[in-house]
Amino acid sequence: MDSHVMELPRVIQIGYGVIKEVGEFLSKFSPESVLIVSGPIVWARVSKVVEDAFKEKGLTYRCLQINDSTSKEVEVAEKTARVFKADLIVGLGGGRAVDVAKLAAYNCQSMFVSIPTSASHDGIASPFASIKGGNRPYSYTTKPPLGVLADVDLIAQAPQRLLAAGCGDLISKITAVRDWMLARDEKHEYYGNYAANLALMSAEIVLSEAKGIGRGNKEYVRDVVEALISAGVAAGIAGSSRPCSGAEHLFSHALDIIAPGIGLHGEKCGLGAIMMAKLHNLDWVKLRSALYDVNAPVNALKIGLDADQVAKALVLAPDIRPERYTILHKLRLSFEEAKMLAREVGVV
Ligand SMILES: [Zn+2]
Repeated sequence: MDSHVMELPRVIQIGYGVIKEVGEFLSKFSPESVLIVSGPIVWARVSKVVEDAFKEKGLTYRCLQINDSTSKEVEVAEKTARVFKADLIVGLGGGRAVDVAKLAAYNCQSMFVSIPTSASHDGIASPFASIKGGNRPYSYTTKPPLGVLADVDLIAQAPQRLLAAGCGDLISKITAVRDWMLARDEKHEYYGNYAANLALMSAEIVLSEAKGIGRGNKEYVRDVVEALISAGVAAGIAGSSRPCSGAEHLFSHALDIIAPGIGLHGEKCGLGAIMMAKLHNLDWVKLRSALYDVNAPVNALKIGLDADQVAKALVLAPDIRPERYTILHKLRLSFEEAKMLAREVGVV
């Protein structure tokens, strides 16, 4: 096997109310000046605390508020960082802010710190950024954040739907790892046992705590956040998104094309995982009931997708990344077979 590079976050701080310590946390990286990329809703919620913490440490900063995560926002963030000579870019918010900041920091060769305010996907600590409107529908490989500051209080206040989506993203590691094994066995692809097990562990915590997570208990929210960070680290150890992303993710990306703007990433991955579990002869009923318990959708209609869209996405999925061998590449389902699969497991 060829050697590969593992890139990991250097400092991770997680706890209740830790957003107050953001000044001290960022001072660890001795930045000249900081660009904060955030969304308007999140910024309205935390700006007072963040500004006070920055002032206390004498940090120079500027905040860029974004509403979307397309290549346009990345460009604006890069330009702002250059004009402002920011050597540290912070993604403060949900998936969009973190992803835009991550790719912009990578392009500018600046340091990057992730401060998630919701637990909706595993991009919190991973080296991957999902940006819309690029030349490909899946994520960009960048670098993992140098630091992650996760305030469980803040994350627990985010809409419950986001947490459920994060659980969908985590449960999908079960089928992602199966696809990775399949590629190892049939295509002699590199397979990292440690990274695979780390990713599986992050899924298993959701399976075992699903009911508690569904009730929104803060202790469980913390476990989900730690699991999402850990899944991102698993990708860093693998040196690829393999342990975190299989056919269920390709299904989600296919839906991004077929039905843009409908459903959250983690919700679509969760639905995909139920179907891929069936194809891999895994206990799909168990996956489905865990998703149900965390209040994630187990039927596509619930998020506004119909049977035809689901079947079309299953057919298109392997073409999104032809080189990434998965169960859908092996089986190449027809439209009718795809529809039958979705019906059998109650996704449509
Ligand atoms: Zn994902």
